[in-house]
Amino acid sequence: MQSNIKKIGVMTSGGDAPGMNAAIRAVARACSYYNVKCVGYYRGYQGMIEGDSVELTARSVKNIVSKGGTILKSARSLEFKTKEGRKKAYENLTEEGVEAMILIGGDGTFTGGMIFSKEYDIPVIGVPGTIDNDIFGTKFTIGYDTALNTVVEAIDKIRDTASSHNRLFFVEVMGRDAGFIALNAGVGAGAEEILIPEEDLGLERLLESLQRSRRSGKSSSIVVVSEGDKIGKNVFELAEYVTENLPDYEARVSVLGHMQRGGKPTCFDRVLASRLGVKSVELILDGQTNVMVGVSDNKLLVTSIEKAVKGKHTINKELLRISDILSV
Ligand code: ATP
Repeated sequence: MQSNIKKIGVMTSGGDAPGMNAAIRAVARACSYYNVKCVGYYRGYQGMIEGDSVELTARSVKNIVSKGGTILKSARSLEFKTKEGRKKAYENLTEEGVEAMILIGGDGTFTGGMIFSKEYDIPVIGVPGTIDNDIFGTKFTIGYDTALNTVVEAIDKIRDTASSHNRLFFVEVMGRDAGFIALNAGVGAGAEEILIPEEDLGLERLLESLQRSRRSGKSSSIVVVSEGDKIGKNVFELAEYVTENLPDYEARVSVLGHMQRGGKPTCFDRVLASRLGVKSVELILDGQTNVMVGVSDNKLLVTSIEKAVKGKHTINKELLRISDILSV
């Protein structure tokens, strides 16, 4: 470790994700291990602008590894998108003696960090924390695995009622721009169809697929729909369209909503957050900046923040084929 950095700041920003607390704990404990002070900023960039911070010690982060949400809170800060906002944030960091920042969040958070570190020459390290899994440079983001398990459990329950009443359910899951949750939870829960932003199934094929399910003797069907699916209709419009065209179907809609963000992080997310949190501190102490730490093939992977923001993490389309075969 070559750096003389004595104080590191950490914050969580954008949508909250289970496992963010495990990452905060890992950052605070790694700082303590390396004899560096650690400061947590509340409500992401807004807390940096307002100087709303708390000292984090190895003991003050006890009992949070298992907690959902983020003890540092999260927020979307419009003010940080302005030069004046970023200036205020920098002045607060300087006053507090914070010499580097660890940013736990998604691509918006990283974009802000990239701009900030260019303007003020302050080292920033990104830690991918979002349930959407839509970050380039990591196979998994913190919170994604927990969200997947939450969604699968919810769909399992919906399946019970769907099959009891011979119904068709449209289940909307999070994912405006990326279909990771829909695709993986859909396969995991045995959905008949999965609609995602990356692939246009087409309304005709959806109807054909549902008819095929009926003919093959299925008593219930589940269609998992990403918020931003490419067909371009929301779940309610889809349900209406299908019942108009297939009147023997009784369709229902379930929008899973914010429950997908909550809950205790899975062991996978806790371990991932612990690894990424420790590494983020080590990267700062190694003199690195403007990079994000991720994971690939179970190894830690360091990518420039710029690449993480500009690149696209693509879904595994093979899963669509698997889903097709399995819903025979
Ligand atoms: P999620 O993927 O969960 O939505 P995110 O990090 O992408 O997480 P955003 O709301 O897009 O969430 O971004 C978080 C915050 O980052 C914004 O509220 C804003 O303060 C800051 N930010 C985003 N884009 C910029 C930008 N172009 N310039 C400065 N700050 C930005």
